[in-house]
Amino acid sequence: MAKQQDTSENSLFAKVISHAKEYGFVYQSSEIYDGLQAVYDYGPWGSELKKNLKDIWWTAMTRLNHNVVGIDASIFMHPTTWKASGHVDSFNDPMIDNKDSKKRYRADVLLEDKAAALEKEGKADEGKALVEKMAALLDADDLEGVRNLIIEQGIVCPESGTDNWTEVRQFNLMFSTQIGSVADDSSTVYLRPETAQGIFVNFLNVQKTSRQKVPFGIAQIGKAFRNEIVARQFIFRMREFEQMEMQYFVRPNTEMESYERWRDARMKWHQAVGIPAEKLRFHKHEKLAHYANAAEDIEFEFPFGWKEVEGIHSRTDFDLKAHQEFSKKKMQYFDPEVNQNYIPYVVETSVGADRLFLMHLCEAYTELTVTDGEKSKTRVFLKLHPAIAPVKAAILPLTKKDGLPDKGMEIFRKLRAKFNVIYEEQQSIGKRYTRQDLIGTPFCIAVDHDTLEDNTVTIRHRDTTEQERVHIDELEARLAEACSPERIYEQLL
Ligand code: ATP
Repeated sequence: MAKQQDTSENSLFAKVISHAKEYGFVYQSSEIYDGLQAVYDYGPWGSELKKNLKDIWWTAMTRLNHNVVGIDASIFMHPTTWKASGHVDSFNDPMIDNKDSKKRYRADVLLEDKAAALEKEGKADEGKALVEKMAALLDADDLEGVRNLIIEQGIVCPESGTDNWTEVRQFNLMFSTQIGSVADDSSTVYLRPETAQGIFVNFLNVQKTSRQKVPFGIAQIGKAFRNEIVARQFIFRMREFEQMEMQYFVRPNTEMESYERWRDARMKWHQAVGIPAEKLRFHKHEKLAHYANAAEDIEFEFPFGWKEVEGIHSRTDFDLKAHQEFSKKKMQYFDPEVNQNYIPYVVETSVGADRLFLMHLCEAYTELTVTDGEKSKTRVFLKLHPAIAPVKAAILPLTKKDGLPDKGMEIFRKLRAKFNVIYEEQQSIGKRYTRQDLIGTPFCIAVDHDTLEDNTVTIRHRDTTEQERVHIDELEARLAEACSPERIYEQLL
């Protein structure tokens, strides 16, 4: 269930955020100008981690499925696209302001939070009834009813503690801008709020040029933009973010079979990339979007509660039909097997790359108390799956003398084309180990005087700090065994 709470309320989450900033994963955008709300930049390690996640998704979706192909569509699209998709008229969030604190909230999230609190108190039925009531009011566009329900439930603003609420208003989440030199209504374009429409409008182009037969899928990774009302919780809810979506086109009335298959395949993927099964669950939508006949989220237990990471939607033929109507171009497919023309139905999987990143960061952040004699200290490390870790190994000469740096560089040069490895010689070996732990590097390779004699090095394992001696010639195979995404793909086949 969604929760609107300040990140400072949650110490583990606050630690993850500050870790991300301090160790080069995520920075506030334009920080020198005090930042831009809900817009973030990825640093050296963050961009590597995100890229690894995207690559593994891309390979799992396209290369492992012979009937899924990729595209890369533009952010700007003809404005009628968004009329047809329903986004101009109904891509809204109900918002409510507290008159005392002047803080703005999503009305539905306030009620969902209340339902979650009831569930925690052992009143699950009451919570469920509340969500159902809210869904019915939103369906009927009864915004006054939503406001009354918030007041009836005794929901107050967490900041001011009052229920001095404004009316509930719908707020369109699309950003618009002008294209060309003349600013008038006809030149208004939107920054796409989802990548899916780029797939729908290209459906026939892709089908024909890739010679695919229904059922087949189109996958895409790209930026999406939403003017989120409540932009908090770090990169969980951003105004500019990245989506990884796949639309799977099927024969009408066969969509439920594909829906269930993709829903299970996507859950399996998250687990294969290292998220434990008990931290993931499905959550069925109470209120279906205007285009869907079934929808479920894959939720992860974030430090601030169970929240959506990915949506699996059965979108019917809504989008293709609407584009056919608005563009006056046929969006039909001729199915030679049944000798029929039809508009395919669509099953969608839609995951946010940034939310996925945040899930992995939260899951990987580990604090361990280590005792050494009388003293005890906390060891912090990121227990990332080696296949997604930004750096696979750090090559560390024990000292800066006696030819150890040259030997270290020799190993670095041997490995760098195959793996993202780094070479470091500054500071004590202990400090260098700690730095690698903090960015989640699974292996440190220490080069010492024995290396010069017998070409062996010490491998230190991030999670256990255990050390072992191996021959330099074995390094490549050892890193490949642990870090190659192939191990992930094997679990999916
Ligand atoms: P929410 O209910 O959290 O607003 P949504 O149901 O609107 O999400 P979808 O439209 O289904 O989300 O988008 C698919 C995925 O895109 C989400 O599961 C999420 O991972 C990601 N996503 C959506 N909005 C954002 C955002 N503002 N910031 C980051 N990721 C997002």
